[in-house]
This record gives sequence, structure tokens and C-alpha cells, in this order.
Amino acid sequence: MTFRHPYTNTSTKELEKYLKYIKKHNLKAVKLSTLVKKIENKENIDNYVVFTIDDNYKSFYKNGLPLFKKYHIPFTLFVYTKATEGKWGDFMTWKMVRECAKYGELGVHSYAHPHLPKLSDKEINQDTLKAINLFKKRIGYIPDMYAYPYGEYDERVKKIISKYFKVIANQNPGAIDLTTPIDDLDRIALTGKVNIAEKLKLKRLHIKNLIIKRNKNSITEISGKLINKIPYINIYLTDFGWKYHIKIKNNKFCFHPDFKLKRFRNRIIIRYNYKIFSRMIIKY
Ligand SMILES: [Zn+2]
Repeated sequence: MTFRHPYTNTSTKELEKYLKYIKKHNLKAVKLSTLVKKIENKENIDNYVVFTIDDNYKSFYKNGLPLFKKYHIPFTLFVYTKATEGKWGDFMTWKMVRECAKYGELGVHSYAHPHLPKLSDKEINQDTLKAINLFKKRIGYIPDMYAYPYGEYDERVKKIISKYFKVIANQNPGAIDLTTPIDDLDRIALTGKVNIAEKLKLKRLHIKNLIIKRNKNSITEISGKLINKIPYINIYLTDFGWKYHIKIKNNKFCFHPDFKLKRFRNRIIIRYNYKIFSRMIIKY
């Protein structure tokens, strides 16, 4: 299981609660790269937790880092390189980023934090190369981990980003298990007040051949095959809301929302109890 932790959206009190919970329940908090190695080796990752932080805000350095140090819990920090290089006030300096790397590890969070699906192939390559070159210059190495800005991506974006990075984190809510592709890692946002025990119960729902049919910007069909036997599923679509108790027949489900997307960034969540699967849909 992995977590996204936008520091600006939580309090130190909340964060300390999560870290205490991890310690109290003897969960194994590791860096993302450690978890990836375990996935590659098909080792048991049941009790593993990863904290990831997008955007290297100074507030994390000031308030978050001391707590991770106090509890000896590592983390993976995805760096918005333009903000740090440009010495933007709210963002860490390269010195602070290097200090963070001592207690966790670093990943790339783009150069200019663009909406990647809005860019051309050439522009995506350019942004990524700028970030990579800054890492080389300021940190001395290039991480093999990347987190999409705003969690936005589609197949085209993914294809380009995967040329540069082996490990890619999205922002689709979900849990990780040994079937999770390491270039499409779901995360759970820890924002506001979170019931950590409930979040940790989430497990990946296994769906084969997920089909999202669309007619321009209308979602006409969501269908797929379930690997495990479950009686029904609930499906959520941004702005549409939840459709409950969708029947399963011969392990298959088929739902016709006939819903026109309203936003650029949309989400589909498929759930059965604590089993969860989600995907991003971009409106073009
Ligand atoms: Zn970001």
C-alpha cells in the first residue's frame, strides 16, 4: 500500500497520528524503491506501507521531516524541480532537498508541473529532460521514479514518461499488491482528517480487460471481468457519483453511464467493500 501525502493539506498532528499508528501496529514503512524491489522479487508485501510526498514544500521540510526523523520512518519525495531551481519562496532549496534525501529518497515530479495530457509529445520530452538535467546538476544522479503532476496521464503520456522512468506513481486511489504494475502505482491521499485504519484495509480489486468506451466526451460503457468471485460492484464516476450494486454475471460486469464528462480530469472508482480499483479519464 502506498500513500500520497500533500503536506500542505494535513496538519502535523494528523501526520504524527499516522506515523504512531504505523509503529504501534508494527507495519513496515519503507521507501518506494524498497517496495518496488519486493514486488519484483514477488515477496510478501502485506504489512508494508510507503509514504510519498509530492511537491517539495518548505512546510514539509520544517514540519514533516522532523516527524519522519523522530519515528525513523522513511519517505519518497517527488521534486518539482522548476520551483526549487527558481528559489520560489514556498519551496525547498536544493540544500533542503538533499537533506531530505538522507532520511528518505527522491523522485522526479516534472520540471514545470504541467498538465501533461495537454502537451505535445515534444513538450513532454522537453519538460522531462529539463527535470532530469537539473537532478544531474544539483543532486548528482537521476532517480528512476516519477510522479505525474496533478496525477494526470493517459496512455500517450505514460508511454513517453516510461522511456525515462521505471517506477511511476499516479494519484488514482488504490492499494498495491504483487499484481500492480510498477509504472502505474496507485496512491491514497492523506488530506484533511483521515481514518488511517480504514485506509489500510483497502486491497486491490482485480479486474481483467477493463473497457471504458467513450463517444467523444461521453462515457458510454464501463465493463470488465473480475478475477475473484464477488456478488456486485459499485462504480463511481466524477460528477456522476456512485452507481451501487451493479450485478456480476459470469464474473463480468457492464455499466452504461451515458454520462458526459464535465472536467478535464475525471476518475472512475470501482469498489466492493474494501476492494478498490481506479482509473483516470482525461477529457480532451
Ligand atoms: Zn504536484
